[in-house]
Formats: sequence, C-alpha cells, structure tokens
Amino acid sequence: MMSGARRVLIVGGVAGGASCAARLRRLDERAEIVVFDRGPYVSFANCGLPYHVGNVIPDEADLLVASADTFRERFRVAVHTETEVVAVDRAARRLTVRALATGTTRDEPYDCLVLAPGAAPIRPPLPGVDLPGVFAVRTIPDTRRIRGWIDEHRARRAVVVGGGFIGLEMVENLVHRDLAVTVLEKLDQVMPPLDPEMAAPVAAELAAHGVGLHLGDGLARIDARDGRLVVVSEQGAELPADLVILAIGVRPENGLATAAGLEIGSRGGIVVDEHMRTSDPHVWAVGDAVEVRDVLTGQETVLPLAGPANRQGRVAAASIAGRERRFRGVQATAVVGVLGVTAASTGASEKGLRRAGVTDFEKVYLHPGHHAGYYPGAKPIHMKLVFSTTDGRVLGAQAVGSEGVEKRIDVIATAIQFGGTVHDLAEAELCYAPQYGAAKDPVNLAGMIAENVLAGDMPVADWERLGEPGTLVVDVREPAEFAAGHVPGAVNVPLGELRRRYDELPRDRELWLCCGVGQRAYYATRFLAQQGRRVRNLSGGFTTYQALRAAGRLR
Ligand code: FAD
Repeated sequence: MMSGARRVLIVGGVAGGASCAARLRRLDERAEIVVFDRGPYVSFANCGLPYHVGNVIPDEADLLVASADTFRERFRVAVHTETEVVAVDRAARRLTVRALATGTTRDEPYDCLVLAPGAAPIRPPLPGVDLPGVFAVRTIPDTRRIRGWIDEHRARRAVVVGGGFIGLEMVENLVHRDLAVTVLEKLDQVMPPLDPEMAAPVAAELAAHGVGLHLGDGLARIDARDGRLVVVSEQGAELPADLVILAIGVRPENGLATAAGLEIGSRGGIVVDEHMRTSDPHVWAVGDAVEVRDVLTGQETVLPLAGPANRQGRVAAASIAGRERRFRGVQATAVVGVLGVTAASTGASEKGLRRAGVTDFEKVYLHPGHHAGYYPGAKPIHMKLVFSTTDGRVLGAQAVGSEGVEKRIDVIATAIQFGGTVHDLAEAELCYAPQYGAAKDPVNLAGMIAENVLAGDMPVADWERLGEPGTLVVDVREPAEFAAGHVPGAVNVPLGELRRRYDELPRDRELWLCCGVGQRAYYATRFLAQQGRRVRNLSGGFTTYQALRAAGRLR
C-alpha cells in the first residue's frame, strides 16, 4: 500500500463492482482497491449465461470478461474470489470476510466501502423448489449445473416458471437444446414490463414455435414422482418436466446493508443519493442492490439491469475520487430477443402510469415496416407510444417485431432522457436508405401521429370502449380485407368510395374509423372531420384490435 493512500473495499466484483474498481483506478492511481466476491469469478457476463446453456456461446471461458489476474496486472486491483463478506462494522470501518475454501475469517479495514452484491433470484418458499433438477440462473456454476443436468438426464422437457426477460431467454436456449418447453406465468401475459397487448405478439411467436404457455396461473409446488419432476400450478395443472428453471424475479441482496444498519427503501433496495452514497458517508452502493429514481414517475424503484449497474459503478468511483458526477435515475430501457422476435421498451408503460395514478396521457399505436416498403423484406414493427397530453413529453414506448425494433426504442429512449416531446420525435433526423429505414422513420411517424392527436386533428377512440352507444365503427379498408375479419358491428366504406358515400353515414353517431394499421383511417378521419362529422381514429387499426383481443383487453 502506498502510504497515506485510501483503502477502498468493494463487495461484489461483477457489473457494478468491477466497473467501479476499474474506473476508480483510472481516476486515482494511489488508492488501494480490493474486490471481494464469494463466487469463483469476477467480471463475468451474467447476461450471456442463458446463451451458454443453449450452446450459442459454447465455450464457458468466453463468459469471462476479465479475470482476477487482469485486474491485478492492468489495474493494480486486488481481487479475492471465493471470499464472502459476512459483516460490516461501520463504526470501526471494518469488514469481516470469510475465505470459503478454509472457512477462516479475517478483518479488512476500509476508508471507503462500495457494496455491489447484486440481486438474488427469488426462490419462493414452496414445496419442491429445492429438489434436484430445479435451477435458478445467476452464476457460471449455475449454468454448468444446468448443462450437466440436461446431458446426464437426457432432458426432453422443461418448465420455465416466469415469463420475464430471463425466463424467455432461457426458453429460447432450451428450445435450441431441443427441449420441449412450457412457461408457467402468474400474470396473464408474458414480458410483465410490457402492456399486455404489446406482449401478445411475443406470446404468439412462442406458441408458433411450440412453446407451451400456461399464463394467469402461479406455481404451487414441485413434486418428484417416478424419477421426474411435476410442476403443480395454483389452479391444479400438472406440468411434467425433466428440468425446471425458476425465473420469477430477483430481490436486492440487502442482507449486509440491513445488518449494518444502512437505510433500506420500500422496494428492498439500499437507499443511495445521486452520487450512489448510502446513508453512511463512507459507504457507497451500486447495481441491482440499490433503489433508484424512476425519472418518469419520480418514484423510487429497483431496476436489475446491467447498464445502470455499470454506470452507477462509474458514478460511485467518481464520487470516491472527489469528482462531481450524478446518476440521473432510470427509465427502464430494456430489450429481449426470443425465437426471432424482439421486444423492447423504454420509459413508462400504460399500466405503469395508471398504477402511479397518472391520467394526463394518451397513447398511439402504429405498425410501420422496419424499412421502406418498396425495398424487399420489410418487416412490421408493432409500436406503442405513450405521451403527456399536458406538454407533449414522451413518457414511454414499446415495440415488437423481428427487425429494427431496438434501434427505434433506443432513439426514443434518448429523446426521453433529454426530456423530448412528440414534436422532437416528429422532427428527429435519422438515417435513411431503403434497406435501413424510411424517409419517415417509424420514430418520426410515432411523433407525427401523436402530434396529430395533440393538435386535435386526429382524436383517438378508446379501444376498450368499443361498442359504446352513440358510436359506429366505420372500416375504410377494401371489401376483401373487411371480409377477412373486422371489428364486430363495423360497417365497410372503403376509403376510395368515402367522398362519394359519406352521406350514408349516420350524423347522430360518433364515427370511429378503422383500417388495417390506422393510416387509411387517419385520412378518413381528416376528411370526415372537415365535413363537420364527429370522428375518432381507432389507433393501430385492425392489427391493434387483434393484439388487444389476444390480450383479453376488449370487452
Ligand atoms: P452482480 O452482477 O449480480 O454481481 C454481484 C456479485 O456480488 C456476485 O458475483 C455475488 O456473488 C457477489 N456478492 C454478493 N454478496 C456478496 C458478499 N456478501 N460477499 C462477496 N461477494 C458477494 N441485464 C441487462 O441489462 N441485459 C441482459 O440481457 C441481462 N441478462 C441477464 C441474464 C441473466 C441470466 C442474469 C442473471 C442477469 C441478466 N441481466 C441482464 C442483469 C444484469 O446481469 C445485472 O443487472 C447486473 O449484473 C447487476 O450487476 P451488480 O454488480 O449489481 O450485481
């Protein structure tokens, strides 16, 4: 140790802890930096674990981003793996650590302490969750055990409990291993962060790939019968399996912090300020273990994602080094790919806003191609944009499709970070060549459609109020499209005949215009509005109707 140098101890050496250690070294060459991790590795790619199970990343060594040696040689950071921190004595500024190989404990004094212990998979206290063959996925040894179990038991069937990000990534990779997979999910949708109608295309894709979906039903217990597992649901369904993956969420590892008397928030995360400093000025905390501010709702939340953990590690390092840097908060930008479909979201969902009691917002749906329609191979992106009706601020966006999905959500995420409005999206200057996008990119279109709503040029109808007395759905698609499927009770007046036939439409009812995706209905809305009719657009058209119906959101 250099004399007078501060001693910085870091608990947890993966996303948040490792980035804090490396950044701190770049800012402070004098500090003594020591990382403890109870696992055998530091700085490994947790996000790659499902793909190792699926043999997409066949070599386990590829999951190791940096080794203890790398940290020592390049950064002069000491790393102690298989060493668990068991207690924090804040008054004495001292940790008690246990070497797991020998069981011996020792004390480690600190000037600054960074807690980056992550979050643990939730194992509900239900019968059978600890049976052999039931796994959670958090570490490299977990994936080793899962791979070994699949091979040794020639596993053919798996049940994945939980249809969120990690659950669906495991589904995809178990399908890659030729297992027949069933998802058991307590909510009546997969991908809980999405609004149900946006998750519906993901569920459809899973079903199309033969994945069994058992939604709206929770886990009751797991039995071992005749050498195999049977997952029993709360409603009594019995799902046989050779292998069960528990992916029902994670909980901040707050044990050390709680025992040390640090402030813990209502969501179970360690409370930190914008500099990632805890209620003790000598202790910082980062990553899945902390609570952070949701920039859209203003509420404290936990967001177990790698991006925030890495950025928070840098912020804590800056703070320890005496530099001014603040963590802005989170907006839940996330993406998952499963069996060819990509689902991404940023900011608030409609259901999240409703839960938070927000009412001054509106939403629009659109289904543009991921690039110009005239260039071969355009694939639809199903998008939903949620925005403030008070000031036009973009509140959130969700998109599902097979190409170009995450690019659009990333653009909108950036706009949200800068406090952007729907007008900013309409005006955004984005890349365009036929094979990549369109002169009006889906992001522009989302902004333009929302602008039309805010300007009163295209009032939108509430899909969930379909069939309301005093309204009539007018479908402006061609007769063959109408015959192939339409909203119940709709009348068909194709857009090309509307100027000639609009007098046929009743004057005493509000006309709700519908088409395939909302565009022709918009043209019809504008025409009829200028004829003095009371009109609304059914945003997203029949495509959105089908998604809402699949999600059970229509009466
Ligand atoms: P971790 O990375 O979990 O690191 C915490 C470390 O602390 C662990 O190694 C743990 O052993 C150690 N530790 C805990 N307590 C102690 C103690 N008392 N003493 C010593 N060591 C301790 N995020 C994304 O953004 N995108 C993805 O695609 C994605 N995919 C994921 C897939 C999987 C299977 C998993 C498990 C996570 C995924 N994540 C993803 C989440 C992401 O990995 C986490 O948000 C991120 O790793 C959190 O970083 P962290 O430093 O807070 O915690």
